[in-house]
Amino acid sequence: MRITANDVRKEYGSVTALDGLSIEIPDGSTFGVLGTNGAGKTTLFKLLVGLDRPDGGRLAVGEQSVADAGTEIRRRVGYLPERVGFPGALTGREVLSFHARMRSLRRDGRIDDAIETVGLSPSAADRAVSGYSNGMRRRLGLAAAILPEPQVLVLDEPTAGLDPRGVAEFHGIIDRVRTETGATVVLSSHVLSEIERLCDRVAVLDGGQVLASGMVSELVDADDVTVRIRPESAGDIGGLLAAAETFGTASATNGTVTVRCPTGDVPSLFAAVDSTVDIADVTVERDGLEAAFHSALETAEVSP
Ligand code: ATP
Repeated sequence: MRITANDVRKEYGSVTALDGLSIEIPDGSTFGVLGTNGAGKTTLFKLLVGLDRPDGGRLAVGEQSVADAGTEIRRRVGYLPERVGFPGALTGREVLSFHARMRSLRRDGRIDDAIETVGLSPSAADRAVSGYSNGMRRRLGLAAAILPEPQVLVLDEPTAGLDPRGVAEFHGIIDRVRTETGATVVLSSHVLSEIERLCDRVAVLDGGQVLASGMVSELVDADDVTVRIRPESAGDIGGLLAAAETFGTASATNGTVTVRCPTGDVPSLFAAVDSTVDIADVTVERDGLEAAFHSALETAEVSP
């Protein structure tokens, strides 16, 4: 289901958490939300799942305004919060039964299906949640989120705090949930490689606004490269920097000059540098999401 935010505002006292945020998330996409701490990601998610109301603007899931939908929105939008708390004395299965009753879901088979989808073993599902690892709690939280068969799934930093193996397993689970449910998935992460791995689209948030958004593939295949050049002699760094600056944004640290420039300019950059100093080492890296993210933040900082 498509999600549309138009000029959405949210204030907490004197803090503006969302400052006229506008975004469009197409039906069926897996949409990554990137941002610095306090950028407004969790606030956006809480509004999306109906846990809070916007102070202005319009946020809609499909055609329906979230503010008008009331608790009905919880059936359509499943939510895995950043921190998931469960009563430790209950088993995983009991937690899911409780969620199913709260939402008046009748089909008992849904609980077994959800347990299987998130990869909790039946024996683990019958153990008390107090003995669950962080990864198992996350799986249980996701099982609770998919119980009502939502058309939208909102995952707030779904792999934060998991070890590398847990992260890889959870990525696989998100893939499976997406394939099995066909839901539109919106997730936040501070880990850019995670967004690249899971998402087809991404938005960069800062100060409660969208700074940049687009297809991950377009941002990753951006036509810029980052070139790092180390001169033979540290005394040449000034001349090297001056030569590099004519091709793009350049800086010098630890005896190396880094310059970001269009791919097509690399041969002339090499020619110019080669005629200026003796080179010890050169690396060229295609820019990825990380460069796009930092560039979006830098552009925002220099804007009036
Ligand atoms: P993080 O990456 O650190 O989780 P975030 O992008 O999710 O950050 P939010 O949690 O949405 O950011 O917070 C946005 C801003 O709103 C922050 O300045 C935060 O302190 C403030 N804020 C969020 N919730 C509340 C609240 N209940 N009361 C007061 N201020 C709040």
